[in-house]
Amino acid sequence: MKKMIYADNAATTELDKAALEAMMPFLSFEYGNCSQPYAFARKPKQAIKQAREVIARCINAEPEEIIFTSCASESNSHVIKSIIWNGGNRRSVITSEIEHHAVLNSCEAIKKIGYSVTYLPVSSKGVVLEESLKKIITKDTYLVSIMLANNEIGTIEPIKELAYIAHSNGALFHTDAVQAVGHIPVDVKELDVDFLSASAHKFNGPKGIGFLYVKKGTALYSLISGGSQEFGFRAGTENVASIVGMAVALKNNCDKMNENRMKLVELENEVISSLKAADIDFIRNGAENHIPGNINLSFRDWEGETLLHRLDLMGISVSTGSACDSVNTQLSHVIRAIEPPKEYANGTIRISLGKNNTQEDIQDISKALIKIIKD
Ligand code: PLP
Repeated sequence: MKKMIYADNAATTELDKAALEAMMPFLSFEYGNCSQPYAFARKPKQAIKQAREVIARCINAEPEEIIFTSCASESNSHVIKSIIWNGGNRRSVITSEIEHHAVLNSCEAIKKIGYSVTYLPVSSKGVVLEESLKKIITKDTYLVSIMLANNEIGTIEPIKELAYIAHSNGALFHTDAVQAVGHIPVDVKELDVDFLSASAHKFNGPKGIGFLYVKKGTALYSLISGGSQEFGFRAGTENVASIVGMAVALKNNCDKMNENRMKLVELENEVISSLKAADIDFIRNGAENHIPGNINLSFRDWEGETLLHRLDLMGISVSTGSACDSVNTQLSHVIRAIEPPKEYANGTIRISLGKNNTQEDIQDISKALIKIIKD
């Protein structure tokens, strides 16, 4: 059988084995509902409490500031749509042109019912500039929502500085930290954000579970009405197994963060040097300060789609635009926003390496790309 090389870790990641093991009892015999007072509910209740503590520690939050959600799309929608109930006289949101569609489409939804949204442009490296936020923020701004790291090009944004500007104008600050949590140090106190979204399947946890950090004392209406789970912020019987798996996966990634990071940077450099040594005409997108393992490349006079399919035929999975956008053959909104030269823009692919990729994978990816482009 042909070897499969998975290099699309920004889209999703392999489930951590210890996380799967920790989940198993709660998928089988420990099926009690945490909201019940009897003894059979004790184990799942305790497991959720512990998971909340572990996750809080990983981002320097308090346990009661962690709200479990079904995914980061839910976390993002919840925060953006909260303007309807919590915005008061403040009726506008500021975000950036390169956010994930979970943020962009939530913004479109509130626009349809009369709220205003401003989209900040980015530099050619994909950085949101403090000056552009300062110019546009007003006393009408309820929320500024800027991602911690971009999912296509990996650029890490100056969140602390942007949050400071938001707060100086009385606005709240949200960051979509999906690509960052479990991969680079994230400290909510240091960043001073009011809300932060994360998703387990991006850090080797299970799919269908995420969390939202809500800074203590911040008003937030519950998007899902029902019981009083999640401190009244999010109703619904808890997904115990997935919550447990998410905590184990996050802790394992955080414990090995430096080691993983160093390995990924080395692997990244190897891809770039091999392509350069073979005289391939390409540019690398994104900032120097980026998520480890993210390699967004644009090849001159190529189509990203063609490269993706040829690599796929060779058993290698990479992406063109963002994963949620892969049926769309137009240039992604992120690539449009950073405006690479026209002759390169269409030939963009994203190789996103994860902790399980090996040096052999990298050699195979580089060889495959060189063969496709040179033949
Ligand atoms: N935000 C970013 C930056 C992402 O990369 C993704 C997933 O691709 C999401 C949000 C959505 O995450 P989820 O799949 O948990 O809804």
